[in-house]
Amino acid sequence: IKRIGIITSGGDAPGMNAVIRSVTRTAVSEGIEVFAFFRGYAGILDKEYKKFNFSDVGGIMEKGGTILRTARVPEFKLPEIRKKAADNLKELGVEALIVIGGEGSLTGAKLMSEENDIKVIGIPGSIDNDISGTDMCIGVDTCLNTSVDSIQKLKDTASSHERAFIVEVMGRGSGYIALMSALATGAEAAIIPENPVDYKALGERLWEERKRGKINSIVVVAEGAASAYTVARHLENRIGFETRITILGHIQRGGSPSAFDRILASRMGYEAIQALLEGESNVMIALNRSSMERVAIDKVLTEKKDLDLDLIKLTNTLS
Ligand code: ADP
Repeated sequence: IKRIGIITSGGDAPGMNAVIRSVTRTAVSEGIEVFAFFRGYAGILDKEYKKFNFSDVGGIMEKGGTILRTARVPEFKLPEIRKKAADNLKELGVEALIVIGGEGSLTGAKLMSEENDIKVIGIPGSIDNDISGTDMCIGVDTCLNTSVDSIQKLKDTASSHERAFIVEVMGRGSGYIALMSALATGAEAAIIPENPVDYKALGERLWEERKRGKINSIVVVAEGAASAYTVARHLENRIGFETRITILGHIQRGGSPSAFDRILASRMGYEAIQALLEGESNVMIALNRSSMERVAIDKVLTEKKDLDLDLIKLTNTLS
């Protein structure tokens, strides 16, 4: 392989820059040229790219977001548009594409690859941790740390005023961020898409805890399970506590990546190039326990990411 392309696509995640750096430097050190395309699949369709060398990716590891920008390109669902992208890549002599993104981006990559004989390697970037086949996605750890930091601050004021806080965190299809941040902040409960909530039982528990002397209650809710307003409405009359709502929102997407994300990104970027050198295509780089693995993108897209639901019990027991 002489020349590869790289894009970041879909929702951004802290650590994407660390992947770009790792991919570029590993490739260049193997004598492979790197064409970095801007704004995801849009940059390939518009041939908007820059050839990246070792020094082009200096000082970016610690930056949040993605220097390549990202975009949503709905027309990539059409085979003729994917063919145009593949033709552009071929015209530029790009033999393989590295795609950093979520399930949507991986779907596009897989289809373009199968239909047009272009090699692709996926790297899971998603703050939701909703991509199957890998223990962790790029950005999850940083997002979790941001959520924990914010919830901890809310807990201070909740205690002072003896209030209940309903905190809505990211997670459309996955309760990972909600559950783990609840566990890490000693919140009373996490409401997540994977586990139906019994508001009556939750209300009673919060009320019992109050009688026991607890001076705050924190309920973390994943955006995909319910809105914080809905949760507040269900709980308000049951707990006799003044309720406040906070929606953390996009603050969770930003920030300098954590050490964990920088290391994961560096390892995944390196592994993506090794996979290409060994002739692989249509695989996603994954973290399995502590090892780098390659999982067929097909498999990633057909299996559902599971969440350890025992952690709900643990969260409830410890609160
Ligand atoms: P993410 O990659 O974070 O899941 P999206 O779901 O928005 O984000 O997908 C990012 C981009 O990937 C889309 O804008 C589109 O260009 C491409 N994509 C998503 N779904 C598909 C699909 N089913 N077929 C082809 N391309 C897709």
